[in-house]
Formats: sequence, structure tokens, C-alpha cells
Amino acid sequence: MHGQMMDMPLLISSLLQHADRYNGESEIVSRLVDGKVHRYTYREAHARTRQFANALLNLGIMPGDRLGTLAWNTHRHYEAYFGIAGIGAISHTINPRLFPEQITYIVNHAEDKLLFIDETFIPLIEKLSPQLPTVEKIVILTDKTDIKTSLTNWISYEELISGQSDELKWPTFDEQSASSLCYTSGTTGNPKGVLYSHRSTMIHTYTAAMPDAFNISVQDVVMPIVPMFHVNAWGLPYLCTMTGAKIVFPGPAMDGESLCQLMKAENVTLSAGVPTVWAGVESHLKDKKLKLPNLKRIVIGGSACPDSMIRSFEIDHDVEVAHAWGMTELSPLGTFNTFKPKHVALDRDAQLAFKGKQGKVLFGVEMKIVDDEGNELPWDGKTFGDLLVRGPNVLTNYFKQTEPLLIPDTEKKGWFDTGDVATIDPDGYMQITDRSKDVIKSGGEWISSIEIENTAVSHKDIVEAAVIAVAHPKWDERPLLIVVKKQDAILSREDILEFFVGKVAKWCIPDDVVFVDEIPHTATGKILKTKLREDFAGYNISSA
Ligand code: AMP
Repeated sequence: MHGQMMDMPLLISSLLQHADRYNGESEIVSRLVDGKVHRYTYREAHARTRQFANALLNLGIMPGDRLGTLAWNTHRHYEAYFGIAGIGAISHTINPRLFPEQITYIVNHAEDKLLFIDETFIPLIEKLSPQLPTVEKIVILTDKTDIKTSLTNWISYEELISGQSDELKWPTFDEQSASSLCYTSGTTGNPKGVLYSHRSTMIHTYTAAMPDAFNISVQDVVMPIVPMFHVNAWGLPYLCTMTGAKIVFPGPAMDGESLCQLMKAENVTLSAGVPTVWAGVESHLKDKKLKLPNLKRIVIGGSACPDSMIRSFEIDHDVEVAHAWGMTELSPLGTFNTFKPKHVALDRDAQLAFKGKQGKVLFGVEMKIVDDEGNELPWDGKTFGDLLVRGPNVLTNYFKQTEPLLIPDTEKKGWFDTGDVATIDPDGYMQITDRSKDVIKSGGEWISSIEIENTAVSHKDIVEAAVIAVAHPKWDERPLLIVVKKQDAILSREDILEFFVGKVAKWCIPDDVVFVDEIPHTATGKILKTKLREDFAGYNISSA
């Protein structure tokens, strides 16, 4: 027997309609590519998004068409998110930090019909456009009409929408329809596309806005530092629109000084980004002895958040840190570290140490850890295994991939293997110990590279650290620590090895330390271990 409730699909357009009607006066503030600050309200954003959607319809864009964006976090990118999905087309956000060949591959694989690009990316697209046969038009996200470019098929965004009617009844369609597409760039092979639906996005929005996740209310001022070209900025444009919170988009200026200046000027209360970005903010606050009195809470994820960073924000800057874990394949949030009553009762030091865990699942994601045979492992906070997930926000397959992705065998059937290795404690708090490809297997024991890296960066003279396995005749593999030290710091290999004593188990202390000027990163800011393994292939470890 069916229930007798209204059969209304969960559609992204409903978010902006709701914001217009109930929180229409809340602001969306953007720092643009030229540094100017643009400011308008949800109501105005909705009107312009309808104009934009009408422009798309007049260009003949059909449901299911993919439209690419290469853009920073600004109000025009926001309008593209909602306008494209609103008419049933698919907003395909492209990470401009990928290699040009990867961008060409992605645009061609997605068969993007239009590309929306910020001025910053004109030189890139001038070079690539001869290899992008499906792209019919390039829309430059600006109001300028006199841009000097060798592109012939371009139009400015403002020209595209000017004169378009802001009358539009958003169409209604199946909530399972695709809404956005984001490619994840693994370290090997071609990038793979994750195709979100209206339904998965809406379910993620409901759960990620909850108090035990982002905890966003209409009274918040939210700065999504995490780029809109990376998994829908962790869903923040949708979450803010649902709750009516003021949004502050930082544009391309992601350095500590620019971010602090904008957070202060706009009274930002909540922000989210990866540890590298927060490291820039932290050092700017420290160097300039600044305070951000309105900033209550920051969400740190995308890579493991070092204990030292949690302590610095909580103790020195009086900002609450929430550690979160997710991945492109999950919409993206999987877990959030927020406290149960028993954790509130812990002393401050124990609380801060506990925040190093990636946290407990958001409703809608189930997880378990398994051994190589797929047997479920205990939730004792010590045993680690491959982390599997499933739920309505988790992908079933990559875009256009035909071979089955989800695990077919009986024990793990229907689960997605995240590629992460983790522990889960009896309260359900998960802690990542490694990517499965990065674990170091030393004499039958597994060494967590994350634990060693976090310990290393807690040293005051270490800026960044990465650990890789190198071959060892007796132990199979031993950890090699690669370090970027602070400029002018006097720091030796021995100082660092000594620093580890008493902080990690003796057999986990790296065998050797190498100093480098820079550690390579992926397009999403994670340490590029494949490159480090290449660079240090055949490294002769001193204990060997
Ligand atoms: P991406 O799909 O690019 O967002 O990358 C997802 C991967 O980033 C995950 O599978 C983890 O390996 C890593 N990751 C994300 N958040 C965290 C975190 N808080 N701690 C450790 N690793 C993380």
C-alpha cells in the first residue's frame, strides 16, 4: 500500500525558490577575478538565474546536456550551478589545476556543449579549444565585451543573459535525473566522472546541514573556500541556499591574507577548506597577530587535519574545528567529527586529541571495515581494514563506465571500496590511517603514513611532510620521511628522528629523512605520493 503524501520530486531548483521566498534578503557576496567585491541578494540571484536559464533554453540546451565550468567561487558560478541543473541539464565543474591534457580528456569525455570560464582561464582554453570539438560556445564569466582573445566563438556572461526574461517556471522532472558531474583525478589512469542526481544532492543537502554536520542556520555567514570546481564545494552552495545563510565567495584569491581580510570584512561565522588553505590562514593570523572574532567554526577535510592545526585554531584563535572526511564518489561528505555527550565531558586536551578522528557518518551513508577476504572487522578503534561505504549519496558507477564498479562478491556485495584504510571505534567514529596504496608494510606490521606525517608537521620548524615506503632487505618496507622545513630553520635529520621518540611506536619512526624545497601535490591539493615514489625509487635507506 502506498502512502498518501504528495509525490513531489526533490529538485535543486526548489532550493533557490525557497531562498527567494523566505530568505530573499540574505546576501551573496563575491570577490571577483579583478578583486572587486560584488554583492546582491538571493532574490536577485534567483531573478538572474532565471534569465540565465532562459538564455540556455534559447540556445537549444536540452535536459541531460553537459555544460562545463572552469571557474572560481563567485556569484556567476553560483548562477550556473542552479540555472543549468534547474532546466535539467548537467553542470560539469572542471578543476583548472589539472594538467591541460586531462582537461581536454574530461571535456571530450563529458561532451560538453558550452564552457563557462573565468577570464583567468582564457589563455588555457585558447590553447585547448582546437581539441574540443563538442564545445559550441565559450561563455566568459564577465561583463566585459572588449576582451582580447583568439577565441572566436565566445560571448560574455552578461551579454548572454541581458535582455532575457526573468519569468520562468522551473520545470518538474524525475528526481533521479543527473544534475552535476565532477571528475576525480586519481593518481593513475584517466580521470573518472561522478554523476550526481537531484535526489542524491538534495539528500546530501538535508543531512550535511544538520547540527552534527555543517550546522548551518540563516544566522550564519558562510565562506566556502573549498572550490566549486571540486565536488560542488562540499555541497555548500546548496546547503546555504536551503538555510538562507549569507554566502561569501572568495574568488581566486585563496592566500591567507586575502581570506582573512574578506572573512573579517563580511563577519564570516563558518568556513570550510582543505588543510593547506587553513595553514595559510593560520600563519597569517599568527604573523600579524590578528583575530577573527566572528569566526566560530571551521570545517577541515580533504586530507587528514594535523593535530597541531586543530590545537592552533582552537587554543590560539578560539575557533572550533570540525574534522570531516568525504570523497567525490560520495556527494562528497561521509563523516563529521562532532561530539556525543560523553565527549563533551572529556577534558580539553582529550577533546582536542579526539578531533584527529574523521568522525561518524552522516545519516544516509553506511560504512564498514573489512579484511582482504571481505570479512567485517571489529569496531574497536584499533583494528584497521579497507573502508567500504554505501547509501543513496554513493555512486553506483563512473560516467560512461560499463564494467561493474561495486563489489560483486558475496561478503562485500553492493558496497563501494573507498580505497581508504581506517579504524572505527565502538562509538562509530572512523579514523583514516592511510590510502590503501600508501600504507607501509614493515615486517608484517602496517605503519600509518598519516600518523607519521601529522607528528612531523607538529614540529615548529616543519612546513610539510610526506612519508613513503622504500624497499628494505629485512623488513620489506620502511618509512622514508620527506620534509619541507621552514626557511632559515636549522634542523637536522637527527633532530627530526629524535622528535619522534615517545610520540609514535618505536618501529614506526622513519628510518631516514630527506629535505626537499617542495612536495608535489595533486590538483585537489593532496600530496602526490606516486611522484614521490618515482623520485625516490631505489632510495638506499641507511638502515638497510
Ligand atoms: P577526493 O575525491 O579528491 O575528494 O578525495 C577523496 C579522498 O581524500 C579520500 O578517499 C581520502 O583518502 C582523502 N580524504 C578526504 N578527507 C580526508 C580526511 N579528513 N582525512 C584523511 N583523508 C581524507
